[in-house]
Amino acid sequence: MSLVPTDLWDGFADLLYGMTNLYGPLATNRFFFDLGADEARWVTRRIEPGPEVEVTVLLLKDMMTSPDLPDSAGEVMWRSRRPRTAFAHAAMNAAQAVLDEYGEDGYLRLCCHPFPTNALLDLRRLHRRLDACAACHRT
Ligand SMILES: [Zn+2]
Repeated sequence: MSLVPTDLWDGFADLLYGMTNLYGPLATNRFFFDLGADEARWVTRRIEPGPEVEVTVLLLKDMMTSPDLPDSAGEVMWRSRRPRTAFAHAAMNAAQAVLDEYGEDGYLRLCCHPFPTNALLDLRRLHRRLDACAACHRT
């Protein structure tokens, strides 16, 4: 799967906040990446009683109309079911790696959006407090 988002939307922040929503009250959450003409919609669904989460990436044609379309209108590009801690840990580490490599100033120059520091801090706090993560944490 290769989907390349534009930089018009702050998709990286949406991704991190989407991961923090895994800890929220709603069983299903959505966020999207603007691919220019098309939409890549991420749908996260908590599998009750947990701890697993299903993440589905849908491709919907025509970004001008797709936000009003139901998930069933999209083509499944990727789907995975894993414990919440696995998704959260991976997203948190990816964000930290970006921050380590570019810093906040470099990220702003490269992506034209501020680095989503608050989203990373929220995700880290929730992950450490609520997940029994056995992986190594360096931050
Ligand atoms: Zn972890």
